Amino acid sequence: MEQYNLGIIGGGPAGYTAALHAANSGKKVILFEKDNIGGVCLNKGCIPTKSILHASELYYKLQNCKDCGIYAGNITLYYSKIIERKNATIEKLRKGIELALKNSKVTVVKTEAQIIDKNTINAEGTTYNCEKIICATGSSPREIKGLEFDHKFILSSDDILNLTTLPKSILIIGSGAIGIEWARIFSNFGVETIIVELAQHLTPLADIEVSKRIERIFKTRKIKFYTQTSVEKIEGTNITLSNGEVLTPDVILSAVGRVPNHKEKIDGIKYIGDASAEIQLAHFAIKQAIESIKNIPYKKDLTPSVIYGTPEIAWIGKREQDLEGQDYQKSLTLVSSLGKAHCDNETEGFIKLLVQNNQIVGAHIVCAEASSLIQQIVIAMQNEISVDKLKEICFAHPTYSEGIFDGLFKIN
Ligand SMILES: Cc1cc2nc3c(=O)[nH]c(=O)nc-3n(C[C@H](O)[C@H](O)[C@H](O)COP(=O)(O)OP(=O)(O)OC[C@H]3O[C@@H](n4cnc5c(N)ncnc54)[C@H](O)[C@@H]3O)c2cc1C
Repeated sequence: MEQYNLGIIGGGPAGYTAALHAANSGKKVILFEKDNIGGVCLNKGCIPTKSILHASELYYKLQNCKDCGIYAGNITLYYSKIIERKNATIEKLRKGIELALKNSKVTVVKTEAQIIDKNTINAEGTTYNCEKIICATGSSPREIKGLEFDHKFILSSDDILNLTTLPKSILIIGSGAIGIEWARIFSNFGVETIIVELAQHLTPLADIEVSKRIERIFKTRKIKFYTQTSVEKIEGTNITLSNGEVLTPDVILSAVGRVPNHKEKIDGIKYIGDASAEIQLAHFAIKQAIESIKNIPYKKDLTPSVIYGTPEIAWIGKREQDLEGQDYQKSLTLVSSLGKAHCDNETEGFIKLLVQNNQIVGAHIVCAEASSLIQQIVIAMQNEISVDKLKEICFAHPTYSEGIFDGLFKIN
């Protein structure tokens, strides 16, 4: 029987991060991956969506840059080229991870594996003995009753990546990060886009003011949405909503969450990333992997959330609705008050800070570069840097981060 210090099932961000850190600390590591190294994040999630989103934003901006003095004529969209570039990006990044695993001497076995017990893995009839086993098998798109994926009309977030041409219209079910990002992609490309959301507002996990701002932005971008609404029945391509409306989209994207791939948890096995069924984000998976190998502590409640597109949306910590009935201070800085925003023509949004006892307890950003801005707040919160202390920091000009600086001075 082959012997290893660590056996890992799943080669997504959780699995390959754990493998690299363990191998680089001198452990003999074996990693099993039944599909492509990089997992959902690289092959079907974060990277492909952001690659297509980038192209869609460029396409939209080129058609809307006259006020910058640029008149772009004859803009032609080749969706198949966008997909080719997306695939090339994935390939390039995957090769980088595969090389890092090879250089770190991780044994990679490209096959499905099963955990037999806390020290034994079986793959294609071979048994591997491991001192420790990590399960990083990730998650798959959730199916809802009556809206089962047929992979032609009712699509999952995996299927949507396989489209080679754009539909004329799309109905997106769910307005979490995946639904919102695909709504932005399709609407940028001029596809008639409609969202159906069961909750009271779009992006139901966000701060209420963020949700309302997204709704306002979507209205101006002519992205139609129905909240507190569900799909009642599907007859052929006729979709009847719970409010009685009948829609006839070319395709449906059902983006209503994800479920862990493993059936049940086995005692003595460490579950990380999406398999832990805690937070389904790549950076959470990476942090959990590092925590489990290097014992570097990690404050789970300081995991930032980001939704990409224009403007970006990012948040951390408590939302205003979480603070109801408590004493707190709030500052709201409009992005339109920032010089940089006007230079870039990106004046939509706000930076909101929520403060208790001179400490930031939450930040909610709708702004260009929000994905990077939120990191400044994460550092402040993680290190419990007070608002007074943050006021001592020099923020460069002109930047969007000046919105954070200005916000600090609105707190007494
Ligand atoms: C459309 C979309 C967009 C997303 N965008 C973002 C984003 O912008 N930012 C972000 O942080 N997160 C994003 N996510 C979420 C992110 O992709 C996941 O949180 C992340 O991939 C989880 O990493 P993981 O390693 O736990 O699992 P996965 O990436 O799912 O990897 C698990 C791997 O295990 C393999 N596997 C499963 N079972 C077995 C077995 N029995 N034997 C061998 N191999 C097995 C699978 O093939 C897979 O490769 C997005 C997800 C989707 C779907």
